[in-house]
Amino acid sequence: MKIERWAELAPLTTFGIPARTAALVTWADAEDLRHVMADESLPRPLKAVGGGSNLLFTGDFEGTVLLREVRPDERFVPGLPVSGGMVLDDFCRQAADAGIRGPENLSGIPGTIGGALVQNAGAYGAEIGEFLAVARVFDLTSGEVMTVNREWMQFSYRHSRLKAEEGRYIIIDALFEFPEDAAPRLDYGNLSRELQGVEPTPLAVRQAVLRVRNSKLPQPAEVGSAGSFFRNPEVAPELLEPDMPRFLLPSGLAKVPAAWLIDRCGFKGVRRGGAMVWPLQPLVICNPEFKATASDVVTLENEIISAVKERFNITLLAEVEHV
Ligand SMILES: Cc1cc2nc3c(=O)[nH]c(=O)nc-3n(C[C@H](O)[C@H](O)[C@H](O)COP(=O)(O)OP(=O)(O)OC[C@H]3O[C@@H](n4cnc5c(N)ncnc54)[C@H](O)[C@@H]3O)c2cc1C
Repeated sequence: MKIERWAELAPLTTFGIPARTAALVTWADAEDLRHVMADESLPRPLKAVGGGSNLLFTGDFEGTVLLREVRPDERFVPGLPVSGGMVLDDFCRQAADAGIRGPENLSGIPGTIGGALVQNAGAYGAEIGEFLAVARVFDLTSGEVMTVNREWMQFSYRHSRLKAEEGRYIIIDALFEFPEDAAPRLDYGNLSRELQGVEPTPLAVRQAVLRVRNSKLPQPAEVGSAGSFFRNPEVAPELLEPDMPRFLLPSGLAKVPAAWLIDRCGFKGVRRGGAMVWPLQPLVICNPEFKATASDVVTLENEIISAVKERFNITLLAEVEHV
């Protein structure tokens, strides 16, 4: 276990926005977390960070960041758990290499297994939660390690029980299961077009997903961002306009792409300070030269929310977690 005081957070997040944390603990196992619980010199609150790919620190953090040690050499062995610190895309690649169908549609999502389970990360018609058999979670209120299943996790769209009970549980490791007779899922994005004439093996689907993603989304190593900044809003029928794309929900509401609303308000490529709306996908606020401050990002965020509210009377909510 490693403890640093007043550590920089920019290198620990894909947004790359400058901020510091009063303490940073890099931990590997439950024993380390028990030490953290007992160490009163570590300021509270405690905040878990995995790949830092869904986080915006809006200022210095006065508590302690618990950074899961990432093991770049970790191997996925079917039937055995992987650590919460495993890089999600390594897991997807290794599963696809082994011919396992399921996680290939999640290829290219940055971050770790732990962060993905908290967020119930998803893309191209798949969500990580649907493949979870059991996870071991550490309870920061009792110091106990519990084995929990998919039902306990209460997964829904970009949500889980861990997100609802923010800060209480830490993912130690997770065991996944994949149905053997699963069919490829190609109904989302341009996947079926990308795969025309190609046998949709898990590896072929993974490569198609990566091609489509790379053509639209900024690459974290080159351009800072936290991916989709806003959630797609669920809109009452009376607010729908004739040309508005929509996906009707059983509740009677319609899910409308936030990217379309933001685009209609003319925000593609708009800059405030060092922050910019990604021109190829206006759902993403990015940090193209790694010079943006949190206040640049929040200024742009608030302008977008106000413009969409004024033009469509729809309230956008952030997908990126503000800390
Ligand atoms: C370019 C780009 C593209 C993206 N595309 C997608 C996409 O297609 N689909 C999608 O769903 N997301 C996407 N994202 C968002 C992000 O990558 C995912 O939400 C990812 O799963 C977050 O994982 P992480 O390890 O980075 O979590 P972090 O950002 O580090 O943390 C997210 C949350 O999980 C908690 N947490 C992290 N690790 C643990 C742990 N071990 N135990 C308990 N709590 C923990 C944190 O406290 C925080 O609340 C994208 C991001 C970027 C930058």
